[in-house]
Amino acid sequence: MTNQTATLPKTEVHCAQCGGLLRPDEGQLFLICPYCASSVYLDKSKVVFHWSLACTVTPEAAAANLRRWMAGNQTVKDLDRKARVTSSTFEYFPVWYCKVLTGSQERIFLEPAAAISISEIKSLSIPAGDLQKYDPALDGQAVVPSVPFPAMQAWLEGRGVPAEQVREAALVHLPVYLFKYEFNGRAYTALVEGASGKVFANLFPAKAEAPYLLVAAFSTLGYLVLSAFPLIGYALDPELGLFLGLGACLLGGTAFALPVFALAAWVSAKI
Ligand SMILES: [Zn+2]
Repeated sequence: MTNQTATLPKTEVHCAQCGGLLRPDEGQLFLICPYCASSVYLDKSKVVFHWSLACTVTPEAAAANLRRWMAGNQTVKDLDRKARVTSSTFEYFPVWYCKVLTGSQERIFLEPAAAISISEIKSLSIPAGDLQKYDPALDGQAVVPSVPFPAMQAWLEGRGVPAEQVREAALVHLPVYLFKYEFNGRAYTALVEGASGKVFANLFPAKAEAPYLLVAAFSTLGYLVLSAFPLIGYALDPELGLFLGLGACLLGGTAFALPVFALAAWVSAKI
């Protein structure tokens, strides 16, 4: 009699949906279950669902969203005109997707499943209805995960989410446009998500805060000085001095508002 266990693969993997025995080829990571047709991803520690988001944003629309973001309030003034886009690429980027149940509340956690400089991508909210079965036709544009699932579990535990609370784990390939651009001799990267069109960037030429703080300090100091007038007046002459001090404070306050507003307007026009 032959020893049956010798003919079985060393590690048996089962479908995340139907539990059917899967027989992946050596090194195969993306798989369609032959029994239930689910798309699954074979991590070293676990078999999980494999989803993707459909790309609905055209390359032109992605570039337009990037320009709009550059022209917006977060970034340094005129970044849309001063930045030079040096490259743009499209890919399906993998993220770990975990549905966590705490009490009766359901939360979704995302973490990048491959190296990326824009970790902000984890703040993306994915409408559950938008997830679709990963199609092997995307293989050519899909980045293969390099961060194993246990790393995701460790992240969750770091945020106080024990493994038992994870109701569903999946690998999701997100359509992303990666833009590289230069500004003032430095290189930056921004990402436009291809389902929502949202722009993500960890590091970008931001508006400088110091001039705004200076305007705030200047106006605070001015009003402090003005508010001392009635007190000084009162100390000099409790009746007439207080009256004159209050008058000076009111008139001075109104007059002082003008240079403060002018300065604030000038700063916001320049920065
Ligand atoms: Zn199955």
